[in-house]
Amino acid sequence: MIPSAFDYFAPRSLDEALHLLAQHGPEAKLLAGGHSLLPMMKLRLAAPRVLIDLGKVGGLRYVREDAGRLAIGAMTTHADIEHSDLLKRRSPLLAETAAEIGDVQVRNCGTIGGSAAHADPAADYPAALLALDAEFIVTSQKGARTVAARDFFVDMLTTALQPGEILTEIRFAADDGRTGSAYKKLHQPASGFAIVGVAARLTLDAGGRCAGVAVGITGVAPKAYRATGVERGLSGQALDAKRIAEAAAQAARGVEPLADLHASARYRAAMATVFTRRALAAALERAQK
Ligand SMILES: Cc1cc2nc3c(=O)[nH]c(=O)nc-3n(C[C@H](O)[C@H](O)[C@H](O)COP(=O)(O)OP(=O)(O)OC[C@H]3O[C@@H](n4cnc5c(N)ncnc54)[C@H](O)[C@@H]3O)c2cc1C
Repeated sequence: MIPSAFDYFAPRSLDEALHLLAQHGPEAKLLAGGHSLLPMMKLRLAAPRVLIDLGKVGGLRYVREDAGRLAIGAMTTHADIEHSDLLKRRSPLLAETAAEIGDVQVRNCGTIGGSAAHADPAADYPAALLALDAEFIVTSQKGARTVAARDFFVDMLTTALQPGEILTEIRFAADDGRTGSAYKKLHQPASGFAIVGVAARLTLDAGGRCAGVAVGITGVAPKAYRATGVERGLSGQALDAKRIAEAAAQAARGVEPLADLHASARYRAAMATVFTRRALAAALERAQK
């Protein structure tokens, strides 16, 4: 299919991109890796009159650490994240998650900023970004503001981004002490998207009890969510397979699971429990090493 006609701009700086976005208003769409937007345009589910390509805007593609906090530029590709030695060393959860996205082509073009801004309910990163308590730096001509992950993902394909804003950076704390994490996913076999994806992060105290736990789940509901019932069941506890299994049973509690031709609501809820158990068991094993 051929998209409807549009004007194309390739700004060289963030200021120029912000100016174009303000100038063209709701008629304009930002283009990052194009791996969600272009398929939608070809299917005519989106028909922007103006495309503002962020590909030539410098300074938006990096992974770096500053004072124990990791920062990732919005135009950093899934492959950059998958192969980042810094992330693997300091906070491997996001690199492990990126490696599960689509195929090599998708990972070479798709960006973390594009994925987060698109907020597909079956996207992988939102689960990990929630489990990492990430912060989103959002920039407009008025300046920059910070949005917490729990506030950024608002609903299916809907985020806290306002007109005229560009997501520029994502930040989160590097792992500390005895922390282990894991991302486990049930793939939709054709596209690779998550039918269920669970990101788990556990920190143990000196006695081996759970001093911190975060579980982010994608694919199950219209937006990714923190499984607070699971977290409550583990916090402060000595962890073993039985305790994890009991807590994981709460994985879909309080959410209305999606149903489609790939999975019924009941199946998604059941798989949420299974993959939460697997993610927590792997995170515990890593935290104990
Ligand atoms: C075959 C296939 C398989 C896939 N499998 C998976 C999978 O298994 N898991 C998964 O998570 N994803 C999957 N994807 C989606 C892929 O990860 C996309 O790359 C991602 O969703 C969007 O990133 P992008 O850089 O391509 O963004 P684009 O498609 O360029 O943009 C997406 C949306 O975000 C907006 N946008 C982009 N950048 C910014 C920014 N910095 N600030 C504000 N708004 C912005 C755009 O205007 C657009 O609305 C798959 C895609 C394909 C085609």
